[in-house]
Amino acid sequence: MKVTIFLILLCFFSTIEAQTDARAWTKVEKPTTARIAQSIGKYTSGCLRGAATLPQNGNGYQVMRLSRTRYYGHPDLVQFIQKMGQTAQNQHLGTLLIGDMGQARGGPTLTGHRSHQTGLDVDIWYLLAKEAEKRELSFNERESWGAPSVLTVSANAVNPVQWSSANEQILEAAARLPEVDRIFVNARIKQTLCERKTAHDWLQKIRPWFAHADHFHVRLKCPAGDIHCEKQEPVPAGDGCGADLAWWFSVEAQMPSKKLPAKKILLPAACDAVLNEE
Ligand SMILES: [Zn+2]
Repeated sequence: MKVTIFLILLCFFSTIEAQTDARAWTKVEKPTTARIAQSIGKYTSGCLRGAATLPQNGNGYQVMRLSRTRYYGHPDLVQFIQKMGQTAQNQHLGTLLIGDMGQARGGPTLTGHRSHQTGLDVDIWYLLAKEAEKRELSFNERESWGAPSVLTVSANAVNPVQWSSANEQILEAAARLPEVDRIFVNARIKQTLCERKTAHDWLQKIRPWFAHADHFHVRLKCPAGDIHCEKQEPVPAGDGCGADLAWWFSVEAQMPSKKLPAKKILLPAACDAVLNEE
């Protein structure tokens, strides 16, 4: 009896360990072959079955940092990026440079994000490469180009040299898409948008967050019918330009202790199968 319990416990703990070990998720090079995609768990602790691969180049976009192999996502995310690229091209806004999406089967990563685990998050650079409109960037350019911050050196304001109305138009186009849940931007960018005489209805989805001065982070809603996908609480009503935003410039917000501590991640049990299946 004791041995059985011991074995059960051993099994249980080894399962948890396999799931949460980021190395295992980083090592898997291919998506599962499942035909129906499933985003499983939370954006910050989950995985992805049946991921789609975003092609390196498409109308109005190019993928950066190919060596990171974070160009996988839920098919809805791939479609979203392609749609945004087409918008950028049609409106002559420049070429979108795409940063991290997710790993082949989602899950935790060794470097970078805590989120991006269910294939529904993507980082898009603010830099709109006019040069990339005319040609495909080389592998080395995609590795070595920097993503410049759109803030001033003191980070107290948006730098008009780096920021343009094209950035604003792209954020607006993304925020207006029904599949977009929220978009994380640096608080100074949110402030700039709040002060503009732009329509405020789309600002609700634009959420201030730490960093995010060189890219914005789009998070899609859980796909319809994806029962394993855990929704985040809805964005609060209103444009988010009032007291919520003011907090980001308070002394409290600047204290390092307010930056979220790394939590131990426990993935849903269903992710074990995702890691191990064909
Ligand atoms: Zn991100």
